[in-house]
Amino acid sequence: MIPTDPQPVPQEAATGPLPQWDRVEELVHEAYQRYHGHAEGTVADYIPVLGRADPGLFGLVVTDVAGGNHAVGDAEVLFSIQSISKLFVYALALERHGHARLRDVVGVNNTGLPFNSVMALELNAGHPMNPMVNAGAIATTALLGDGDPFASWAALDAGLAAFAGRTLSLDEEVYSSEAESNERNLALGKLLTNYGRLEGDSDALVDVYTRQCALAVTAQDIALMGATLADGGVNPVTGLRVVSEEVARDALSVAAAAGMYERSGEWLFEIGLPAKSGVAGGIVAVAPGKGAVGAFSPPLDSAGNSVRSQLAIAFLSRAMGLNLFASSVR
Ligand code: GLN
Repeated sequence: MIPTDPQPVPQEAATGPLPQWDRVEELVHEAYQRYHGHAEGTVADYIPVLGRADPGLFGLVVTDVAGGNHAVGDAEVLFSIQSISKLFVYALALERHGHARLRDVVGVNNTGLPFNSVMALELNAGHPMNPMVNAGAIATTALLGDGDPFASWAALDAGLAAFAGRTLSLDEEVYSSEAESNERNLALGKLLTNYGRLEGDSDALVDVYTRQCALAVTAQDIALMGATLADGGVNPVTGLRVVSEEVARDALSVAAAAGMYERSGEWLFEIGLPAKSGVAGGIVAVAPGKGAVGAFSPPLDSAGNSVRSQLAIAFLSRAMGLNLFASSVR
C-alpha cells in the first residue's frame, strides 16, 4: 500500500500553472515539517553498502520549468541514483531508436512484479515488457550502445549529465558493493541472451547497468532532471535540449505506467503523476509543463519506494494541484 497521510489536504485542480513562488516555497517547507519525523520504512540492505545509509536523511526540491528552485533539508546530500536512472536512460534510448523500436523490443507495460523479478521474463518468453524494472532496463542500456558496452556507457554518461546540468560521478563504493553481490542481475542478463533478447556480452552490459545505478546524485539533481522532462526535453537551467518533446512525452507515459514498480497503479490513483523511484531512497515526480519534485530519504516500503518521499510528493501533488487527472471548470 502507498502510505496514507493521517491528515490529507484537499486536492487542488491541475488546471493552470504552478501556484505563486512564495506559496510553492511555503508548501515545500510544510512538506518537510510534516514528514521529517515520520519513522516508517527500512533502509535497503540487499546491496550491502546501502544498508549503512542514515535513515534520518530527508531532502526535498521543487524545480519549475523556468529553472526556479525551492529546496529544503538534505537537498545536496549525494546518494546513488539506482532505478531512477532507468527513466532517463530510457529517454536517451528513445531518442536514438524511436518510439516504435522501443515499444517492440523492450515494451511499455507494467509487469506487476517486483523490480528484480525473474518470473516476469519467464512468463513472457524473455520479452522484458517494462523498461522501468531491471530486465527491461538492462535491455534498454544495451540498446543505447547497439550491444557495445563502451558505447552504452559513453552515451548514458553524457546524456545523464545533460539532464542534470553537471557531470555525475560514480560512487565507487556503491558500485563495488553491488558488483560483488550482483548474481541476480547477471542472471537476468543471461536469460535475456538465452531468449535472443540481448545483443552483446551480457555480463559486460549488466556491468554498465550496475555503474549507471551507482552514479551519485542529489535531490536537487533529480528535480532538475525531472524538470527537463517537464519542459519538453529542454534543461531549464542550461537551456540545452536533451531529448525531443516526443521523447519526453513517451518517457513520462512509461513512468506513469511503471515508474513505481508493482505499486504504479496505486501511485497514479493517489498521486496522479509520472514518477520514478530508486532503492537508495530517491523519487522524482514530474508535472508536465510545470516542473518536477525531487525527494530523497532512505527508509523504504516493501516495494522499495521511499516512505517520506512518497508522503511529501503526495502532499505537494494535492496542495499544488499537480495531479494530471484533477481538472476543474475554467
Ligand atoms: N541497482 C539496483 C538493482 O539493480 C536498482 C534497483 C532499484 O533501484 N530498484 O537491483
